[in-house]
Amino acid sequence: MNRLIVTILSLILCQHIHAQKQVAITIDDIPNTTIYPENGFRSRLLSKLDSLSVPVTVFINEGLIYNTEFVPENTDLLEQWIKRDYVTPGNHTFSHLRYSDAGFDVFTADISKGDSLSRKLAEKYHKPLKYFRFPYNDLGKDSLQQMKIQTFLSENSYISTPFTIESSDWVFNFLYEYYLKQGDTTEAQKTAALYIAKTLEYFDFFDSITQMQYGRSVNQIYLCHDNSLNACCIGILIQHLKEKGYSFISLDEAMKDEVYSQPEQYTGKWGFSWVYRWMSDKNERQSLMQKEPDITDIYELYQNLRKK
Ligand SMILES: [Zn+2]
Repeated sequence: MNRLIVTILSLILCQHIHAQKQVAITIDDIPNTTIYPENGFRSRLLSKLDSLSVPVTVFINEGLIYNTEFVPENTDLLEQWIKRDYVTPGNHTFSHLRYSDAGFDVFTADISKGDSLSRKLAEKYHKPLKYFRFPYNDLGKDSLQQMKIQTFLSENSYISTPFTIESSDWVFNFLYEYYLKQGDTTEAQKTAALYIAKTLEYFDFFDSITQMQYGRSVNQIYLCHDNSLNACCIGILIQHLKEKGYSFISLDEAMKDEVYSQPEQYTGKWGFSWVYRWMSDKNERQSLMQKEPDITDIYELYQNLRKK
């Protein structure tokens, strides 16, 4: 073959490899003990994930184990999660406190309390327990509070876990469960379909920002929750993402992208995407936030139903 053709072909191939989009799935508020008894002591989300062969990192609130009377069953549920080969366990505090409200002493005690069981289980299944995620992604109210906790985390060999994409699945889940309880499966299915459509819009939106900022697709980290909605929909969502060219990687792999070694520029308490936190220009951040996919209607409906 002509050398020029070989060079062109390898360039095209190279570009194709770089154009490959990758995402790590992370699931918060594990284990969901509230819906566990009504689902016959079976995690529908876990069963769904078993069939998907996609790596996931789960962020555990051990306090959830004591939320119902079924403590031994709930403890077993936690073990079921941790023992899966495709699951990486992480700490999400014991009781899901907001750091900026709780303050350093209470919050760090809650971090330590939050890994007593999961650390033993992680060791049993030969896994590290190194990832930590802040509840509400509230990293502290100012730079001083943020610096203090980052020091604590590194002294305790924890890595603060970022995310780049989330789609308020907890809002959609509230409506989804509400409609199911009403026996309105049509509205429940519509809500699930809208969750998938909006999530795909969020993926495109954040990919377009990183394309603009870095000239390429970065390794994304998607944040969602252990809930009925994802038990229903995560397989469909993953299928659509595959069709968009995404492949699914571990959190370890995602974090190798150099974007994650950038300093965070935002020092407030609000839990938005790291894509925004890396921006030094506050006006640019705010103007991009206003262009996010619109879920105002869903959010208003959620607020109205919650008042009832
Ligand atoms: Zn959470």
